Amino acid sequence: MNFSAYLKNDAYIDGKWTAAASDKSFAVFNPADGSKIASVADCGKADTERAIAAADKAFASWSALTATARAEKLMAWHALMLAHENELANILTAEMGKPLVEAVGEIRYGASYLEWYAEEAKRVYGDVIPHSSGDVRTLVVKQPIGVCAAITPWNFPNAMLMRKVAAALAAGCTMVAKPAEDTPLSALAIAALAEQAGIPPGVLNILPTSKAAEVGQALTSSPIVRKLSFTGSTEVGRLLLEQCAPTIKKTSLELGGNAPFIIFDDADIDAAMEGLIASKFRNAGQTCVCANRIFVHRSVHPEVTQKLIDRVQRMKVGPGDTAENDIGPLINVAAVEKVEKLVAGAMRAGAQVLIGGDRHAAGGLFFQPTVLDNISNDMEIARSEIFGPVATLIPFDSEAEVIALANDTPYGLAAYFYSRDIGRVWRVGEALEYGMVGINQGIISSAAAPFGGVKQSGLGREGSKYGLEDYLEMKYLCLGGIAE
Ligand code: NAP
Repeated sequence: MNFSAYLKNDAYIDGKWTAAASDKSFAVFNPADGSKIASVADCGKADTERAIAAADKAFASWSALTATARAEKLMAWHALMLAHENELANILTAEMGKPLVEAVGEIRYGASYLEWYAEEAKRVYGDVIPHSSGDVRTLVVKQPIGVCAAITPWNFPNAMLMRKVAAALAAGCTMVAKPAEDTPLSALAIAALAEQAGIPPGVLNILPTSKAAEVGQALTSSPIVRKLSFTGSTEVGRLLLEQCAPTIKKTSLELGGNAPFIIFDDADIDAAMEGLIASKFRNAGQTCVCANRIFVHRSVHPEVTQKLIDRVQRMKVGPGDTAENDIGPLINVAAVEKVEKLVAGAMRAGAQVLIGGDRHAAGGLFFQPTVLDNISNDMEIARSEIFGPVATLIPFDSEAEVIALANDTPYGLAAYFYSRDIGRVWRVGEALEYGMVGINQGIISSAAAPFGGVKQSGLGREGSKYGLEDYLEMKYLCLGGIAE
């Protein structure tokens, strides 16, 4: 596999590639075969403080650039990411496991945030508000927040970081980022290209670590860090929100989901099947917006079930760097054990395995694509994020019933439904308590759209014009002494 010059072992702090202050490192493994890919600097508190100081120092000059000047650098970075998409995808597949074609898709998706925010940075408008006195003018300007911290997960090691970095840097902020322990290499490769694109020292700093809590504590407790953007589980998000409270940091939290995928009796079943396969099985089911509970109207249940089994039967499981494979390994042993436990619990509670249901014959971290029927909304498998290639079918009889079931969860990230009835499309779209709703559409992510959740799925939005607002502060200028 071609890893190229972008496979880095050091941390990236203040524009320099550097070992951890402790001189310690940790190993990164390929989940497809357990082989070691690299040894990476294991950053701790001292490295984090150094990165924060560098980001603080860089903020003055980076934020003083015009939006156009920042945009030029982001576009140079964008071009480099696309020019090196195959090398980046190879690194991503090696450390994360997803099929190469999906990895290339992720690199393009991640890069699209650079293009989007390079353009959007030029449209950070203020406001002029009429004042009750002729002697006074009321002006609103938007300014970058300052030093931002980012903590990102392993399931999209490129795109989850790019969503944050692109918006932050476009707005004029600087950033200190901590990628997941399982997948630090994609983040370091991104920084290598940022360096090549001329992003100045200190503007972006990357801290690989096996000590997430230590680095997280240093980031959240620092009064210099003005904002935390986190993507990961609701559990860790809650903890980080608490840690940010003493310094009253602005926070953006992209947390867990429990997406309902509803197929009504008036749906185009073939279209629903395409959407379901993409939503459920992409990334081996390890996305926060994966269909987690599949509600099927009882009258179309036999047809949906048969078509789903036919599709799942044809899926190929194996290493992501082999072209024909659709489903790669899960990320680690804990992930496989979790999926196994959820399936076993569902079967004990009366679920029926239609296909799959077990570890795959390929061994290691591979799990069979699975379809379970007779699931009910109160089973553990329907209450928690599965994060594996397991489709769970729940029959329903009426629109009101399925809306109540779909909303019966503390999560509110993504939901999907298929219907050709225009009245129902509007009613159900409004009734679902989710930040994003795919209607006759199984893939909803785009740099142009506001990505984010409600309820315990998070705070704030990433992508779109709204995502830029999360890195800006509003300042009101009250200008008096106008009258002669
Ligand atoms: P996680 O355990 O919450 O980890 C996410 C990040 O937080 C990782 O970098 C992790 O580092 C770090 N972390 C863990 N404990 C920490 C602590 N005490 N202090 C500071 N940082 C800490 O989640 P995950 O299992 O990696 O990712 C899966 C979760 O992410 C799912 O719930 C999924 O739904 C969610 N997700 C949400 C979105 C969204 O946009 N809403 C997108 C993708 C994923 P280590 O990995 O090094 O421990």
